[in-house]
Amino acid sequence: MRVKRVAGNWKMNGSLVSNQALLEAVRSAAEPLAAIECVVCVPYPYLAQTQQLLRGSRVAWGAQDVCQFAAGPYTGAVSAAMLRDFGCSHAIIGHSERRALFGDTDDGVAAKYEAAHAAGLQPILCVGETLDERQAGHTEAVVARQLDAVLRRVGVGVLAQGIVAYEPVWAIGTGRTATPQQAQAVHAFIRALVAERDVESAAKLPVLYGGSMKASNAAQLLAMPDIDGGLIGGASLDGAEFGAICRSAADAAR
Ligand code: PEP
Repeated sequence: MRVKRVAGNWKMNGSLVSNQALLEAVRSAAEPLAAIECVVCVPYPYLAQTQQLLRGSRVAWGAQDVCQFAAGPYTGAVSAAMLRDFGCSHAIIGHSERRALFGDTDDGVAAKYEAAHAAGLQPILCVGETLDERQAGHTEAVVARQLDAVLRRVGVGVLAQGIVAYEPVWAIGTGRTATPQQAQAVHAFIRALVAERDVESAAKLPVLYGGSMKASNAAQLLAMPDIDGGLIGGASLDGAEFGAICRSAADAAR
């Protein structure tokens, strides 16, 4: 059985002062929840603070992006090895905001995925369609194209060592959540796509849902058979809300 996972994506939010209370709240919320994996992905400058406050806890931490190159003249970039230096175990790769605002292409995302995996990070690969693409009936084609780019580069065995997050772009930060049935349908599609290459990899691949998940809708989403957890944006900035989502995940794991 796949373990349930809850990952927070803080995006470009936080300060040394506000992070302290949030990290302490997440740490204590996760403490009794042995059945789930809990991760927070914080802005780069706060990795040292996060490492200091979460070391020895049940909460892992990671970054929201990584450079595809190992080292050298890449001004402004951060390598996977640097993330490892700060105790990161995860990195979000290919978030829709990076694809839409910072020019991440399918092939670029695949290269970042490979670099993260090679350095020992567990990539959280984000895929998902825009509203126009959904309304045009292209959801499966878009998700398949985004996944195929990574599968072509690293193969199915490596993909299954990471995590996929299905994040419909129209649900991110909008308060508009996919229904459990809508999300389940795409999650099952992702698993079937991976199963065409290798059934065992498909069975073990964690597929998280992301898009306005919060304490009030988490239980219904997490009850679906192919939804293995959540990638949480806005609600991860509130310790009580994030803790409640983690408890829903633990309940769903029972
Ligand atoms: C995200 O950005 O990954 C996300 C899921 O955001 P939100 O929960 O705010 O929709």
